[in-house]
Amino acid sequence: MSRMRKSVPSRSDYAGWQMALAITIASALAVLMLVLSQGAKKSLGWGTQVPQSDLPQLPAVVIDPATGGPTDLSLILRAEFLFANHPDPEIRAIAALFKTMSVQIHLIDASQGAAMYFLAFHDGGVPPDLRSLIPVFRVDRKWIASVSLAQIRNAMLIITHECEHYKQWRRATTTAEKFFFAMNSGQEVARIVFEAMSVEQACTMWWKNESAAYLHQCHVLHEWGITDVIESLCERADTALWNSALFDHLNGRGPPPCQPTFARLADRELPE
Ligand SMILES: [Zn+2]
Repeated sequence: MSRMRKSVPSRSDYAGWQMALAITIASALAVLMLVLSQGAKKSLGWGTQVPQSDLPQLPAVVIDPATGGPTDLSLILRAEFLFANHPDPEIRAIAALFKTMSVQIHLIDASQGAAMYFLAFHDGGVPPDLRSLIPVFRVDRKWIASVSLAQIRNAMLIITHECEHYKQWRRATTTAEKFFFAMNSGQEVARIVFEAMSVEQACTMWWKNESAAYLHQCHVLHEWGITDVIESLCERADTALWNSALFDHLNGRGPPPCQPTFARLADRELPE
């Protein structure tokens, strides 16, 4: 621990984090597109193989005649449906919290190529107030509108991953760890995080959180026995090759200042 820097990082570190969080937060668009294209071809199991007709129906996308686009309400209902019908009771319990607004779904447009991602939302008040943090699942409008019946399980697999981040946030015990999940709420929040931990410590936390979320996602994938784009990573789950496989899967995503830490944790060379 002693060799870890305790100094507050530079402004460019903040900028790097914010940009990277924006980019990474998500599972990649390429992955998303593959899921969407694959889903229709394969028969997906519902735990054990269940006929498609027995899968619960996703709420329909309702088009607003005024805009020609889907209504926000119909998209939010689809997202809530994926939580409320998830096989994991802990995730179904989160769906109940949407009703009280203590956990929220925010719709976003495909600016960063993410299907969905979890973050703690901070209102930007200064100084940042821990009590104002709201756990939010940001859901891409185009993605949620495009999920078909055949892709429900794959969509729930993405939710499985993001709910791991929600649980990590819930389990966080220090102010800095809580605000870690709100880092793209601005510099004041980032300052609190980096006053308590070094860049390397924050990067290590980021890696451990992703590693745990992906590992759980892989276990669920294997349990469900479905076809998914994450399969090649999951082949390395619970093996000595996991960190290296995760490094390849992330493929440079993640905060740029973290790449040296990630390479070290994965025992890999940093690409030129
Ligand atoms: Zn993640």
